[in-house]
Amino acid sequence: MTKPKQELAEIVQPRVRAIPTERVRRWMQASTAWLALQEPEQLFPAIVTGFIEVLPALRAAILWLATPSGLQLAAQAGLEMPAQLAAQWRQIKLRLGEGVAGLAWQRETVIQQHGEHSYRELQGLASPQAQSVFQALSDLLPRSLTITAAPLRAGNQCVGVLELINTDTAAVDLEPDDLEMVASMIAAAIRNAQLYDEIRRSHQRLKAFDAVVTSISTAADLPDLVQSVLSVVLELTPANSGALLLFDPAQERLQLSAWSGIDPTILACFDQVPVDASPCAEVVRYGQPAIRPLLSERGETTLIAAGVTAAAYLPLLAGGTVTGVLALFGDLEAISKIDKDMLMPICNQVGFAIANVRLYEDSQRERRRMHTVVESLAEGVLLCDRYGRLTLANQAAHELLEQANLSFEMPLATIPNLYDLRDLDGSPLTPDDLPLTRALRGETFYDYRLMRQYSDGRERYFSFTGAPAVNENGEVEGAVITFRDITANQKVQRAKDEFLAVAAHELRSPLAAVRSYADLLLRREQQREGDPRDIHGLTILTQQVAHMLRLVDNLLDVSRLDSGQLDLQYQQVNVVMLAQQVIDQQRPSAGNRELLLETETPELIVSCDAVRIRQVLTNLLNNAIKYSPPDSVISVRLRHALLPTNNTPAVLISVSDQGPGIPVSEHERVFQRYYRTPGRRGEGLGLGLYLSREIVQLHGGQIWIESREGQGSTFMVLLPIEQVGE
Ligand code: ADP
Repeated sequence: MTKPKQELAEIVQPRVRAIPTERVRRWMQASTAWLALQEPEQLFPAIVTGFIEVLPALRAAILWLATPSGLQLAAQAGLEMPAQLAAQWRQIKLRLGEGVAGLAWQRETVIQQHGEHSYRELQGLASPQAQSVFQALSDLLPRSLTITAAPLRAGNQCVGVLELINTDTAAVDLEPDDLEMVASMIAAAIRNAQLYDEIRRSHQRLKAFDAVVTSISTAADLPDLVQSVLSVVLELTPANSGALLLFDPAQERLQLSAWSGIDPTILACFDQVPVDASPCAEVVRYGQPAIRPLLSERGETTLIAAGVTAAAYLPLLAGGTVTGVLALFGDLEAISKIDKDMLMPICNQVGFAIANVRLYEDSQRERRRMHTVVESLAEGVLLCDRYGRLTLANQAAHELLEQANLSFEMPLATIPNLYDLRDLDGSPLTPDDLPLTRALRGETFYDYRLMRQYSDGRERYFSFTGAPAVNENGEVEGAVITFRDITANQKVQRAKDEFLAVAAHELRSPLAAVRSYADLLLRREQQREGDPRDIHGLTILTQQVAHMLRLVDNLLDVSRLDSGQLDLQYQQVNVVMLAQQVIDQQRPSAGNRELLLETETPELIVSCDAVRIRQVLTNLLNNAIKYSPPDSVISVRLRHALLPTNNTPAVLISVSDQGPGIPVSEHERVFQRYYRTPGRRGEGLGLGLYLSREIVQLHGGQIWIESREGQGSTFMVLLPIEQVGE
């Protein structure tokens, strides 16, 4: 109900006017005092008491502050009341249009209500909560009242409302113009104090933040960190005690990690209990702070018994993950003053610090474990980064290489004679052939044998295994190699090779003679249609002798390779025809397996040693027959291709079977000398694939396997069309 200015003037005008200069002087004095007060806690009571001092006939002055959720009581003077009512009054929020103050706020003009009505009736509409407070205030005031509410405008912002209660209007010496002038001065003083308060708060927050960050950065470990954070936070808040609880997500438990100002036995309800059974379960679950009185039904009995009445539980967040809870204790008044907005950024900082320390501790633990494992290995272990710089070498590596200090941080490629490794013939290795360089190129290899020659004439042999270290995007980030000393083994191997070479050499001539005579005898018996049992026996004899000769020939080839005497006789060969001949030759031993030849053209001419390439194809086809089930299909395919190393024209020959396949981990090993897959039965010395690879490589070609266990095998041979070095 707005009163026109004229009417309002009648009510507030004094019957006996004071001398204007005196009135102005009093207001000026009061306003100057207000403007000098920067702290809201001092300013707000000073405004209302100042009013009563300047206008002694005024019954009461009430200052409401505008907040986003409504008008809130900031200070009052003139009304004596029980503490409980005062507390209730402080709780109420008047929304736009509620009560006389809410109306003045809504309309942005002075509102006045008066008459023979109680305080509550004059207030008009309000929330039930506000109504009950107004009712209680009515009991303190006479029935005949005038309530004047003036909006406090600073610029275009309404910072609050001043409510004045008169019981005798005539006695109050307040001109409407004066009221407006004073209201705008009060508004300016309030705005001033609010700005000052904002600056002071943000300064405090910054200081608090700085203090916490300092305590985080100087902490030595997690226990130190949580303890010092708790001490710093307690100094910043009105709480008188507190605790820091760490959350263990694996166990879904909270753990009491630091406490201050309170006995830890009182905090037993937080320690090592499942989250859901702890008093701050919802803080962990939802990551939201909770500030509330303590409740025995929430398990806070020991705290209540110790005289604590309220707690603030603040989640320590790292991103969206709760790493712990900061619990602050005190009485309700102290705890309700806790500045959540100041503490939450601090809690986030602490949350991240805890997550980081945990990560760091986890990685350190992992590192120590790795270190113990790597150091306890009898094999040498070397690791390098993506630039080829050595980053780790275990004790065994130093011992095996007889180097006290391996050069770290130095790219391998810049050290051509690194570690003085040579191939088995004694030729120095190029940097490209170093085990670490190979692994860095993305190669995975097993049993890469190298030797080292010492100035005193000693020789040591090593077997290297290596692989690239690949990150989750498939990029090579480094490489790892392990190696062991195989000198003793190598010596035995050499003695074995020498013995086998001599034995093979001695066996070759008598066996050749036996085969000729056995062939002759068989042919004779067949011609004269002799006893079938004799023919059968002679057939077996010739087959077995032929097999023995093949084994002996393989052994002789090995010794030729070792002594560098396996020379190739190059000629122009149609490999399609060669493959057809090998298939025809093998057909009798293939049983009912189907042997297929697929080629894109009837003629593929390659410059190669026909005898040796025939040997390779025979080995591959022989294996395919040997290791695949009856009634399965074996295909030999030929087509044009390019050598990946230099893009020169080549022929790709593949031999596929439907046998048991070869596990990927065996792909390299099956090409090793005498290697046979464990558990594989059947005749053989484990030399076929070794010789095949040596022969293909002598031709400048490549051989590899595409196979998985249980899915058949395909052996691929890539032969350059032109003789290498031609
Ligand atoms: P051998 O056949 O005399 O044992 P090889 O050098 O020819 O020796 O072969 C080495 C090993 O490779 C064999 O023991 C066998 O386990 C495996 N292997 C070779 N070819 C095949 C194949 N086609 N399918 C499955 N395993 C094979």
